[in-house]
Amino acid sequence: MSKVQFVQSASRWQQFPASGRPQVAIAGRSNSGKSSFINAMAGQKVAKVSGTPGKTRLLNIFDVEKKFWLVDMPGYGYAARSHKERGDWEKMIEDYLLNCEQLRGLVLLMDIRRKWSDEESMLLDFCYAQDLKVAVGLTKADKLSRSKYLAVAKALEKQLGVPCMPLSSLKKWGIRDLTGHILQQWIS
Ligand code: GDP
Repeated sequence: MSKVQFVQSASRWQQFPASGRPQVAIAGRSNSGKSSFINAMAGQKVAKVSGTPGKTRLLNIFDVEKKFWLVDMPGYGYAARSHKERGDWEKMIEDYLLNCEQLRGLVLLMDIRRKWSDEESMLLDFCYAQDLKVAVGLTKADKLSRSKYLAVAKALEKQLGVPCMPLSSLKKWGIRDLTGHILQQWIS
């Protein structure tokens, strides 16, 4: 369990407090289990488990262990939004991923039972363009057998060439591994 504290929300990364830490963005389409993951990491409810998915358009900053900021990018992949809203949101995210110098990497969360999609590839392409680190967290691994979730993670890792880690917020699997990976490989 890590010490995780909500810092603040901002509509653009330029509004983040000046006394910033290295940043790690976290993205996942609505219902991917992102709030549950952040709460499991904290060992308490710091992120609202979504009742109204895609409602907020803000970047939410969480301080982790006073070592880095986990920057929650809500709303990604929420197809029901209008074209204009999606466009604005995508521009804000693109601006953040391409221009924020404190940003070290992106954790992309995906329900382990879903297929990898173009939207996920798009986010990864931004990261590759900026030499940002990437890790994929495969959430809700407890829904599959151990042999199955290990096989899914291995196949996706081979396909993408980035670490793909099975996670379960419910069972608290993989959360320390992912946090440790970030601390050791991305923040130092
Ligand atoms: P968000 O929209 O990405 O923030 O997703 P939530 O954290 O709100 O989770 C969406 C749904 O998936 C909720 O019903 C959660 O209870 C469920 N969920 C999240 N994490 C897990 C997990 O590790 N295992 C299982 N079985 N269900 C999960």
